[in-house]
Amino acid sequence: MKVNEIFFSIQGESSYAGFPCGFVRLAGCNLRCSYCDTTYAYEQGEEMTIGNVAEALTRFPANLVEITGGEPLLQPETGLLAATLADSGRTVLIETNGALSIEGVDARATVIMDIKCPGSGMSERMLWDNVALLKPRDEIKFVLTDRADYEWALGIIKRRRLDEKHVVHLAPAFGILKPSSLAAWMLEDKMNVRLQLQLHKYIWPRVQRGV
Ligand code: SF4
Repeated sequence: MKVNEIFFSIQGESSYAGFPCGFVRLAGCNLRCSYCDTTYAYEQGEEMTIGNVAEALTRFPANLVEITGGEPLLQPETGLLAATLADSGRTVLIETNGALSIEGVDARATVIMDIKCPGSGMSERMLWDNVALLKPRDEIKFVLTDRADYEWALGIIKRRRLDEKHVVHLAPAFGILKPSSLAAWMLEDKMNVRLQLQLHKYIWPRVQRGV
């Protein structure tokens, strides 16, 4: 598989935010979001076997591992990597952009799925069948660029009752939407969702890779 980077950091997103975590960032993405902060993962990467990736992760003193990208489900070996890591007793997270089917993802892995808002420029690419495939413990994330994205997300959450079925995160696009604005809207609307700030960007504001 084509791997962009493997690193050890603080998990910055999801319900696992704050925990030390080993990350595997796979190369390649099928989307081009307006606010993408990992454009370096579109092409760059080196070929590694699943065994090499699993071995590299053993260097890190954490049970928690995340497979991310780019878009990890683009690579056919991702399923086997997740299964291999789960077999070794790891807690496995897979971050996916929602535009590729999650069917067949190892049931032991927790899926953190984006629903792309209009501000991303990619909302038309959402594969809505994925929502029904989520397990109860899987999580959903909306990255918001403005008030219009917020209202769009609110409509989807209410119509599909997502907050009754999953942990739902609303994340302000870093440097684009002020967290205080989003927090105020959420409080005003009494939303049963979580405000998600990308912890790693506050801890290491000028570091782009490996965090
Ligand atoms: S899905 Fe993620 S990696 Fe791909 S373009 Fe969007 S933000 Fe970037």
